[in-house]
Amino acid sequence: MRLKNILTMITFAATATMAAQSPLPSGLDKNNMNLSAKPGTDFFEYAGGGWMKAHPLTAEYARYAQFDALQETNRKQLRELIETMATQQAPQGSLQQKIGGLYRLAMDSVRRNAEGYAPIKNYLEAIGNIKSRKELQYEVARLSSKGVSSFFGFGCDADLKDSRWNLMQINQGGIAMGERDYYLADDEPTRKIREAYKQYVKKLFVMTGKDDAAAQKAMEGVMNVETRIAKESYSMTKLRDVEGNYHKMTYGQLLNDFPGIDWSTLFLLNGVPAFEHISVNQPEPIHEVEKILAEVPLEDLKSYLYFCVVDDATGLLSDDFRAASFDFYSHTMSGAEQDRPRWKRAVGAVEGALGMAVGKMYVEKYFPESSKQRMLQLVKNLQEALGQRIDKQEWMSDATKKQAHEKLNSFYVKIGYPDTWMDYSGLVIDEKLSYYENMARASQFMSRYYIDKRVNKQTDRTEWLMTPQTINAYYNPTTNEICFPAGILQPPFFNAQADDACNYGAIGVVIGHEMTHGFDDQGSQFDKDGNLRNWWTPEDNEQFKARTKVMKDFFDNIEVLPGMKANGQLTLGENIADHGGLNIAYQAFKNATKAQPLGKKDGFTPEQRFFLSYGLVWANNTREAMLRQLNKIDPHSAGRWRVNGALPHIDAWYEAFNIKKSDPLFVPKKKRVNIW
Ligand SMILES: [Zn+2]
Repeated sequence: MRLKNILTMITFAATATMAAQSPLPSGLDKNNMNLSAKPGTDFFEYAGGGWMKAHPLTAEYARYAQFDALQETNRKQLRELIETMATQQAPQGSLQQKIGGLYRLAMDSVRRNAEGYAPIKNYLEAIGNIKSRKELQYEVARLSSKGVSSFFGFGCDADLKDSRWNLMQINQGGIAMGERDYYLADDEPTRKIREAYKQYVKKLFVMTGKDDAAAQKAMEGVMNVETRIAKESYSMTKLRDVEGNYHKMTYGQLLNDFPGIDWSTLFLLNGVPAFEHISVNQPEPIHEVEKILAEVPLEDLKSYLYFCVVDDATGLLSDDFRAASFDFYSHTMSGAEQDRPRWKRAVGAVEGALGMAVGKMYVEKYFPESSKQRMLQLVKNLQEALGQRIDKQEWMSDATKKQAHEKLNSFYVKIGYPDTWMDYSGLVIDEKLSYYENMARASQFMSRYYIDKRVNKQTDRTEWLMTPQTINAYYNPTTNEICFPAGILQPPFFNAQADDACNYGAIGVVIGHEMTHGFDDQGSQFDKDGNLRNWWTPEDNEQFKARTKVMKDFFDNIEVLPGMKANGQLTLGENIADHGGLNIAYQAFKNATKAQPLGKKDGFTPEQRFFLSYGLVWANNTREAMLRQLNKIDPHSAGRWRVNGALPHIDAWYEAFNIKKSDPLFVPKKKRVNIW
């Protein structure tokens, strides 16, 4: 899924069209600012310093942003809904029974601590009994049907070059730390993480009954397999090269070109019907897996598979397993000091397994229908503003502009919640079975659901790729759709009790951000129908690339931590989206307030309040470990740079705050990014 989301995003207020509400307050709270900071020196601190000081990191957080504060509220609402069901005995098979039952299982630590790792013992024994490479491949396929992935992944998603149809796809995978750098890089912080990982892997073997020497040997086997896969894996940056991650072939060609993997057993055990075409999205790591399966000693392959099962299960077994996994993944890798309370994890588990069912209840209770109407109007205003900005671009020919307008006018807009709800009748939650076994069932149910819905089928533009309670938004290039779930349509993102300056600076920029993804370095390669097809004249395309390079170079030079630079290529799409989002929302804001300009409120002009609202959205406190991790894997820039890196390229920001050449954030006009 090549979704572009806003990730940690933010605030929105009233719409321009609600003229009757003109005396709305500014929505600005000066306590959130740090008035002793200077806008031209550190706008991030100026707009959000007060909020950051008032919200220091608690032990459970590695990063705490405005976004997380809203998530806390959301989670409490969901908890109330779910716990109501968990305290009742609903009829077996009802949604209430499924939700309540799964939550009870997730909360029952007494039972899980008594069970230890018993729920996965039969899986581990099956691996122990493997006698040949052929049997090993069978076990890989069987585990994948239970939701345990190992050497690689597969799925079914839109065909990038024929977006009306879904296409089977094979993806790289198989490395638990998630990014090749963790296995290969030689800098001190990464080496420390790698050493801690080895200890963690070894520990899981000891905890499941191996003696120290056997656990040491098993760990070395795991590291051997994962490091080999990592060496051939694509970096996060390379994964953003759309054309380079598309290799469509017939099923026959797959069997011929990748003979080292038992594909037919894999698809058979996963219930995948016969199909004609498939894309091996990253061929090199898949070829490496073929070699690994043929060359690595069988015992090491078994150790690797064994680790995949235990590592995947840690959150579903006794507390000591969860603690081991928290200690490595959340503490060592991200910097969190303390695990989330059990109820938060339980709410998360229910959301993961039955998210749309919970979402339906959530919108019925918490989402006002009026929000949908206001959002539709806002989206329309933003669409109009983007159209105006496309017309204004002097570097673009009329021919390309015409195509851009067609794409803009074809946006498919989703707001709040889906029209039809997912059917969970095929999922059975049985409290006589372990929590682990029930979660495996949920995973199997979901996997079969998408196989039935997608393999050999046309794509479904009405399908929602986020649950309604999610606090986020996305653009999907293959459907040319923008989606704003109910979760994000509340303060501080969307605030009916504040004026347009506040709202356009927050949710307005979110909308503009998602729209701009249709025209970022990746989105611009897809046409209005969602096909990977070039619609640019060669000259315009050159111009566009030259302009995006200014953005890439600027972010490449940002020092996130001493000695650690940002990755301008990895974050290019998101930085373009922030840039476009700001320009488009500002234009829409000006259009909306043209007839009745907003005056100064609370000592700030409307233009200043627009940018202050934007800046506050990204206020956050983040631990150093988390900053290092995000710098490797996150296509979004760190919050500080979504403010201090984005605004210096927006002309209107200079005017609003009278930013001068002598200010540290000043960028000469000729060097500013100028795209949308
Ligand atoms: Zn984005």
